Amino acid sequence: MTRTLVQAVQDAGVCDPRLLDAVRATPRKGFVPPEFAARAERDEPIPIGHQQPTSQPTLIARMIDALRLSETDEVLEVGTGYGYQTALLARLARQVYSVERHADLAARARANLESAGLRNTEVVVGDGSVGLAEHAPFDAVVVSASARRVPAPLAAQLAEGGRLVMPIRTHEADMVTLFVKRHGRLERQRLLLPACFVPLVQAGTDP
Ligand code: SAH
Repeated sequence: MTRTLVQAVQDAGVCDPRLLDAVRATPRKGFVPPEFAARAERDEPIPIGHQQPTSQPTLIARMIDALRLSETDEVLEVGTGYGYQTALLARLARQVYSVERHADLAARARANLESAGLRNTEVVVGDGSVGLAEHAPFDAVVVSASARRVPAPLAAQLAEGGRLVMPIRTHEADMVTLFVKRHGRLERQRLLLPACFVPLVQAGTDP
């Protein structure tokens, strides 16, 4: 018998029952292109167009786990893709704002989230590296593309005590890192794991 995604996520060290329930309640085939539906229950990245992949579920789950979300939290996600991570966030938090630079991907994500019955999400087309000032502050921020450092607007829009997870680009790999905001400053809390992400596209900046 094949291992389920819930088992894979558990084996990856996630034990939060709310997060495991969210994975269980969110069939991934609703968040990948139909031609890849047969691969949706495997723990592997899947192409979603524009040379972008949706990440493997264990990586997404470990990033979300580090955010320690509560059901009153407001979350900012940068890089919506097809909306799988958005869906998991929506099951754990009060409201999710997600920014995607490709309008067609954003439209697809909105349709996927609607089909899943998740109404506490808002997908916005734009450059997520500048955040969404009109909805700040956020209790948690998760970035699904890598850069050398956290963009200043994302740090500014994080609430005091808020958590931010982002892959930070180094020579060797993208180091998925948890930051916490204390005394108005972003502090690096811990390294989650090395991974491989697409670059965060930022106007006028070398990712
Ligand atoms: N969270 C998604 C990740 C999709 S891949 C998932 O797990 O399925 C990363 C996404 O980030 C791509 O869709 C890409 O278009 C988007 N992206 C890259 N730079 C961005 C930026 N500056 N603003 C918004 N989206 C961005």
